[in-house]
Amino acid sequence: MMPHLRGIGMTSQRTRDRMIARLTEQGIRNPKILEVMRNTPRHIFVDEALASRSYEDTALPIGYNQTISQPYIVAKMTELLLELGPLQRVLEIGTGCGYQTAILGQLVEHVYSVERILPLQRKAITRLWELRIKNVSYLHNDGGWGWPDYAPFDGIIVAAAPQIIPQILLQQMAIGGVMIIPVGNDDRQKLHRVIRNANEFSIEELEAVSFVPFLSGRE
Ligand code: SAH
Repeated sequence: MMPHLRGIGMTSQRTRDRMIARLTEQGIRNPKILEVMRNTPRHIFVDEALASRSYEDTALPIGYNQTISQPYIVAKMTELLLELGPLQRVLEIGTGCGYQTAILGQLVEHVYSVERILPLQRKAITRLWELRIKNVSYLHNDGGWGWPDYAPFDGIIVAAAPQIIPQILLQQMAIGGVMIIPVGNDDRQKLHRVIRNANEFSIEELEAVSFVPFLSGRE
């Protein structure tokens, strides 16, 4: 492995192992997710100046007013997404720095990742290429449109909070599919899990979270 991927000091394997121990204490149980997060260098997803903080359980700025989600949230959302069984096709809204994308890419068959800010997505593409994660397709667009060409998806994961669940994303879920999405305004957001059954959607409200807003249009 390339030295900068392996990391040293605050980005070393030991620091990464501590992050995994913390995730376990926080209730993350899925061994595959813990293993993938143990082996994925989170420090390459943030600016070099912030690399030493990249394994702390905190969100960090990635530019363009956006943040990389804290490790617990990435782990929790991935665990909820995969809880009902393995997934083939997963739509991700909000590529951001690509960290969540890299984790998903190692756990599902194919990831379709949509981001509205082009320079962020470009950097993410470079990083995943460096990690040799190749089962990801990227689209620069407003994720409110989903990705109709590849719908329906058996999983959808959304990294920004809309006020209400976008109808178009519900329509792009397969029967039996699952969506993990934060919903609410800046002061009050709840993580939701939606499951599409043959005749209806079942919606569960889960824990309180804090995501950047789901915005429309492209930049
Ligand atoms: N999982 C990412 C989270 C990044 S923050 C990471 O760990 O880096 C959320 C991302 O969602 C931002 O990059 C933001 O630009 C993007 N976003 C917000 N609204 C969006 C929309 N409507 N369509 C696509 N991406 C969106």
